[in-house]
Amino acid sequence: MKPISSIAANVQASTTMALDSLYKEMKANGVDVLGFAAGEPDFPTPDHIKYAGIDAIVNNQTTYTPPSGTVTLKKAVCKRMKEDLGLDYTPAQIVCTSGAKHCVYIALRVLINPGDEVVLPAPYWVSYAELIRMVGGVPVSVVAGEAEDFKLTAQRLEAAITPKTKAIILNNPSNPTGMLYSREELTALAEVAVRHDLYIVSDEIYYQLVYDGNEFVSVASLGEEVKKRTLLINGVSKSYAMTGWRLGFIACEANIAKVASNYLSHSTGNPCSISQAAAAAALSGPQETVESMRRAFEERRNYMVQRINAIPGVSCIQPEGAFYVMMNISELIGKTLHGTLIRNADDFGDVFLREGLVCIVPCTGFGIDGFLRWSYATSMENIVKGMDRLEKFLSE
Ligand code: PMP
Ligand code: GLU
Repeated sequence: MKPISSIAANVQASTTMALDSLYKEMKANGVDVLGFAAGEPDFPTPDHIKYAGIDAIVNNQTTYTPPSGTVTLKKAVCKRMKEDLGLDYTPAQIVCTSGAKHCVYIALRVLINPGDEVVLPAPYWVSYAELIRMVGGVPVSVVAGEAEDFKLTAQRLEAAITPKTKAIILNNPSNPTGMLYSREELTALAEVAVRHDLYIVSDEIYYQLVYDGNEFVSVASLGEEVKKRTLLINGVSKSYAMTGWRLGFIACEANIAKVASNYLSHSTGNPCSISQAAAAAALSGPQETVESMRRAFEERRNYMVQRINAIPGVSCIQPEGAFYVMMNISELIGKTLHGTLIRNADDFGDVFLREGLVCIVPCTGFGIDGFLRWSYATSMENIVKGMDRLEKFLSE
């Protein structure tokens, strides 16, 4: 038989998804394992949102909608963007898809020709690199390490640009690092993007999860010139605990939104009509649950960071948003733990899972070695147990 598409054959499974599945399988087999791999809120979807979904079913909102979403949902998106981020968008500039992951795919589909380069600050969320390749683009990873607070600088961005560069992906606050770009840092990056005529794919799905009273600034708010080249990606998964509902959205120039909508009309069609109704309720209804979940995450972050930094051999810097901590294990490289030589983060992740019974994500899949990612989107009880297991694992 002829070979299948080489682009498809080279797609790697998502490390975060693969590890989460492994953890769930171990648990189902009765192993007392703790999972910190998936970045998925442990809270239930708030009741008023669930009931909006139920109402949509009862009221027969169970038919096709326009491919890029209902006007009601698009208006709710515009309202939230205005209230939270000071951004003016019209419904014609909004494209609703089956999750923010799908938004990234559609955004890249619309922007990228085969061979176009996309600058990707590393460590990056594992799906970005694969998605760029899936559309025929070339990911150009630029390391922004712990010494730079895991943040890309304008100089590094500038140095990575070639005549083939089409876009940059920004993720603020970041998965996996939890770091937040300040207004000044974003302004410097945006200036380079404008000067080199680059598109900015800005994934801001964690914007409501920011700690220590820090200000969140959307890159699209830095002026019209920046806004018109930005494809702003957001969704309801993280802030409203709606990961399974699969609803995300892009805000961009209307002509780009139109092309994205054409793509959707031939692929997924509209995102689930019931999820659209629930998401509209999430975005336009009371926002108190967002704040109570944010406070819970902040408390968990404080505890996890303090525990990790008190355990010899590992360390972390304090993240400012999202729900991830990057644990630095560089001191342990070359040492033997529980009979296993630790050559890299993968070795650590493997032996920590087998012997320590804790599942965390090695950051090799995120374009950087020497770190593992903990998600603190899990109960405080689990976090306490996880930290106790780490301490015990490293002291034996
Ligand atoms: N972007 C980032 C940075 C994420 O961490 C996630 C979580 N999977 C997504 C996008 C996708 O979210 P969704 O569930 O809306 O597809
Ligand atoms: N964004 C989450 C994570 O990084 C969910 C898993 C995924 O979609 O990759 O763990």
